Amino acid sequence: MAKCSLCDRDAVYCPRYEGRCYCREHFVKWFEGKVRKTIRKFSFFGKEEHIVVATSGGKDSLAALYFLHKLSRRVPGWKISALLIDEGIKGYRDEAIKDFLRVVERLGVDYKIVSFKEEIGYSLDELVQMGYERGLPYKPCTYCGVFRRYLLNKHARELGGTVLVTAHNLDDVVQTFLLDLYRGDVKKIPRLGPVTGVSSHPKFVRRVKLFYEVPEKEVTIYALLNDVYPSTFVECPYARFSPRWQIRSFINRMEELYPGSKYSLLKSLLALVDALKEKYRERPRTCKICGEPSSGEICRACQLKMELGILDVKL
Ligand code: SF4
Ligand code: ZN
Repeated sequence: MAKCSLCDRDAVYCPRYEGRCYCREHFVKWFEGKVRKTIRKFSFFGKEEHIVVATSGGKDSLAALYFLHKLSRRVPGWKISALLIDEGIKGYRDEAIKDFLRVVERLGVDYKIVSFKEEIGYSLDELVQMGYERGLPYKPCTYCGVFRRYLLNKHARELGGTVLVTAHNLDDVVQTFLLDLYRGDVKKIPRLGPVTGVSSHPKFVRRVKLFYEVPEKEVTIYALLNDVYPSTFVECPYARFSPRWQIRSFINRMEELYPGSKYSLLKSLLALVDALKEKYRERPRTCKICGEPSSGEICRACQLKMELGILDVKL
């Protein structure tokens, strides 16, 4: 078994792109130091913040909550809350909510659970079925992503949050980057920066991607070592309908063959975000139906509701 490069204990992880190994204790120190460096580099937080962590009950967001709760003990001006959106995916989110409750109770963090059913009127399972019956061209992840983003922003603001943290990791970010490239969706690339929504609309809560520079595998190990890894691992039943699956296997294969590939993709992404942010700067407006921030006259959530026949408005 490999030994830690910093002491003589057995290693739990050897990042190939670094050529070193870490035992449990040094892994945690190295991981937390890396995330703190990202926080400083991209100026994620100020001294006074109400940090709302978007928590799904999965390993990444529970690790983000655990990490920020631990860090907040050193920053007196920080308050941490957790916000969970229950989309209503049978056999999937219900399990994740149990893990979420176990962790928030253990940490003593304030939390709020908001459901699609109460807010939109239907669960995601019902919305997917309705969209299918109406012949709409969208995949389940479209309904899920649009309504989840909408509710996260609205409820983070209502909680008094000054910043909304998502647990997007390096893998998520570079996968979305390649997906945007494959779809020719170049306009969306600036949204993949580490911080978004800075003073773009008074109702928009600034968003940061906490694990922007950390590979998914490392977040998984951190969650396991700190006992916040979900007790039951269930994959979302809709995930296989997304092209992200193919992109994910491709990127992982490249990383295996050429260690450091994910970081190279991130470097290209950051250069593009910088080059394109002025060209595609979004000037959010206010949705004339619901009053939330929107890129057009009507926000994407209200548009989808109209297409699904659950919002009847005369414009
Ligand atoms: Fe939602 Fe798609 Fe993720 Fe499932 S895989 S939780 S439907 S975004
Ligand atoms: Zn709207």
